[in-house]
Amino acid sequence: MMRAKALLMCVGGAFALSACTAAGSGEGSVKSASTANTGDTRTEFLGEDGNVPFPSTYRAYPGADTLIIPTTVFDGAGGRIDNGWVHFRDGKIVAVGGPNTAPPDVANVVDGSDKFVTPGIIDIHSHLGDYPTPSVPAHSDGNEATSPTTPDVWTEHSVWPQDPGFSRAMANGGITSLQILPGSANLMGGRSVTLKNVPSRTVQGMKFPGAPYGFKMACGENPKRVYGGRGRKPSTRMGNFAVNRQTWLDAIAYSENDDAKRDLGKETLVGVLDGDILVHNHCYRADEMALVMDMAKEMGYKVSAFHHAVEAYKIGDLLRENGVCSAIWADWYGFKMESYDGIPQNAAYLQREGACVVIHSDDENSIQRLNQEAAKAQAAGARMGVNISDADVISWITLNAAKAMGIDDMTGSLEPGKMADVVLWNGDPLSVYSRPEKVWVDGALLYDANDPKRRPVSDFELGQPGAGDVK
Ligand SMILES: [Zn+2]
Repeated sequence: MMRAKALLMCVGGAFALSACTAAGSGEGSVKSASTANTGDTRTEFLGEDGNVPFPSTYRAYPGADTLIIPTTVFDGAGGRIDNGWVHFRDGKIVAVGGPNTAPPDVANVVDGSDKFVTPGIIDIHSHLGDYPTPSVPAHSDGNEATSPTTPDVWTEHSVWPQDPGFSRAMANGGITSLQILPGSANLMGGRSVTLKNVPSRTVQGMKFPGAPYGFKMACGENPKRVYGGRGRKPSTRMGNFAVNRQTWLDAIAYSENDDAKRDLGKETLVGVLDGDILVHNHCYRADEMALVMDMAKEMGYKVSAFHHAVEAYKIGDLLRENGVCSAIWADWYGFKMESYDGIPQNAAYLQREGACVVIHSDDENSIQRLNQEAAKAQAAGARMGVNISDADVISWITLNAAKAMGIDDMTGSLEPGKMADVVLWNGDPLSVYSRPEKVWVDGALLYDANDPKRRPVSDFELGQPGAGDVK
C-alpha cells in the first residue's frame, strides 16, 4: 500500500528523488500488520504481546426485542416516514416501516404517538473526559502543549470515564457515539478515540469496537500563537506548513526503513498515510483549508473533515470535489481574527453546494443540544432562501458525522443490520421544546425520562440541582 502511494507521489513529481527510489524496493510497511483474524485490512500497530494495544472491551448492555409504533421516523440518511415504526432486536435494527407495511408482533411495544425517532446523535468533536467537568486545572488533559507536533499522544489516555458530561450528553442531547479529540494547541495534536456513550469503569469499556482512529491536526492561529509566543517555531502560518511538511517527510522515510527503532508518533503518521487513521483538521480560513488539501495531496494522505471551518462556505466546490466534510458550529464566530468571516448560513450553503455537512459541539454544553444547533443552521439558511429538509438536517448530526468518523457502516442511520442506536424524542427534534424521552445504545435502553432508575446521576453532581439530578 505504501509502495503504491509513494510511486503515485513520484509520478506527481512532488517528492524527493531518494524517497522515490526507496519506494520501489520496499514491500509495504513492515511496522504495520493487517488484522487477518478479523478479515480487516486496517493497519494495526501491535504491541510486543502481539495484540492491539488498549483494545476495546465494550459489551452492549442487555436489551429487549422492541417495536416503536406509531411514530415519525427520521432515518438519518435523508428519509422521513410519517406514521411509521422501528423494530430492533439483539442490538441491531431489524426493520423500519411505514403505514402500509405490517409491523412485527413484538411484546415490548413503545408508544411513539406524537413523537419522533432518530438514530442516536453523534458528536464528531468533543473533549468530554479529557476536559471533564468539574473543569479544574487538575482535570485539564486535552492539550500536550509541549511541542508543536505530538503525534505520539493518544487522547484515550486522558479520558476520565466518570466525567458527568457523558450522561448529560445522553440525557439532554441523545448522544450515543462521540469522538474525543486532543485540543488544538499543536499542529499535530495526537490520536482521537471514538466512544460509545455508555457507563463504564474504563475507557476501553467505552471504545467503539471497530472504529478507526482519528488524528487531530490544527492550522492557523493556535499553533503559531502557542509556540511563537515562546519564541519557537512555528510563529507564522508559513512556519506551520514548514513544520508539518518536514514531519510528514520524516514519517514517510520511517515507513521505508525496515531497521528504524519503533517510534510511536511516526506509527500514527504512517497509519494516516496508509489510510487507516482519519485526519480531523481544525481550520478556520478557506484559503488555509485549500493549502492543507494541497499539502495532503503532496504527502499522500486525505483529510476526512475540517473542524470549525467557519469559512467553508467560500470553498464548497473544493470541499465537495475533495470529498472532505466540514464539521461546524451553527453560528459561533467572531471570537478571534480567523473566525471573523463566519456566517450562520455556512451549513446551508455547503449543503446547497453538495458538500458534506456535520454539526459539531466542541463544548460540554453544546453537545447537549446538537439538535437545536442543527435547527438554527437550518433556519439561517431558510432566511436566505436556501431550504434544507428536516430529514437532511438530521443527517448533519447522525450519518454525516458517522461517515467522517469511518463508522457509517455500523451506525448513523436506521438501516437493518446497523447498531440499534436510537433516540425517541418527545416532539420534533428540530424544535427547541423537544427533549430525548428514551435513548437506546445497541438496543439497550440506557435513558428513560420517565424512569428515575434510568436517569443517571453522578456523585459529582450531588447537591447541584439543575446540573445533574433533574436530568
Ligand atoms: Zn476542540
